[in-house]
Amino acid sequence: MRKKLIYCPYCSARFEDKKEHGFKRHYCPKCRDFFYDNPLVGTAVVAVKAGQLLLIKRNIHPGRGMWALPGGFAEQGETVEAAAKRELYEETGLKAKKAVIDAVLTENSFMYGTVIVPVIKASGLTGKLKPGKDELEAKFFDMDKLPLLVFSTHRKAVRELIKGRGTDAQRDRRTEG
Ligand SMILES: [Zn+2]
Repeated sequence: MRKKLIYCPYCSARFEDKKEHGFKRHYCPKCRDFFYDNPLVGTAVVAVKAGQLLLIKRNIHPGRGMWALPGGFAEQGETVEAAAKRELYEETGLKAKKAVIDAVLTENSFMYGTVIVPVIKASGLTGKLKPGKDELEAKFFDMDKLPLLVFSTHRKAVRELIKGRGTDAQRDRRTEG
């Protein structure tokens, strides 16, 4: 369950609930200011090599023991593309030359509340596949043999990927014909 802040992290006074712009927010009566609890940014990396999609099996909650796209939270001062490359390397041992934002989705996480999920297409992969300390496995899967992914945004990103590839394949066939 998502942890709820009770005390102001700056002065330790107990928060009050106060409405602003129609949103119920934390308000610190001592700082006389709102504490904004904005969504986190968690990248999802789509890395395809030889027609196979790279997935990781999570060793941490949420979704421990389940498959997901590689990725994770962006750090302060970091672009989402850099965050995607860093997480990809940490979780799979692979480095990407290129990282491009493909879509921006929204996940309602049981543990983290609202998470904004930039879907990043990574290409130019190099290195040796090796799961990180928070992953049980890192593995490439055939597109028609993908396991169930734990996050709805990751499932959506993969559906779009397969749809896009279908269109490419049809176009290729038409061109060939
Ligand atoms: Zn305060």
